[in-house]
Amino acid sequence: MRTRLAICRNKKRFASEADAIAAAQAATIDLRPYLCDRCRQYHLTSRTKGKRRLPAAD
Ligand SMILES: [Zn+2]
Repeated sequence: MRTRLAICRNKKRFASEADAIAAAQAATIDLRPYLCDRCRQYHLTSRTKGKRRLPAAD
């Protein structure tokens, strides 16, 4: 399944996984970074919503 363009545009982007991880660790809720196939950068998603995207799945 691909990331929707609207979701991509509305989300914060991180140029590197390290940046995304740092932001996720700073957040008060449980977030995990994933590589977006629209912008090829990283976004954060809440893993409590049942969305599991493994970065190595490609
Ligand atoms: Zn994106």
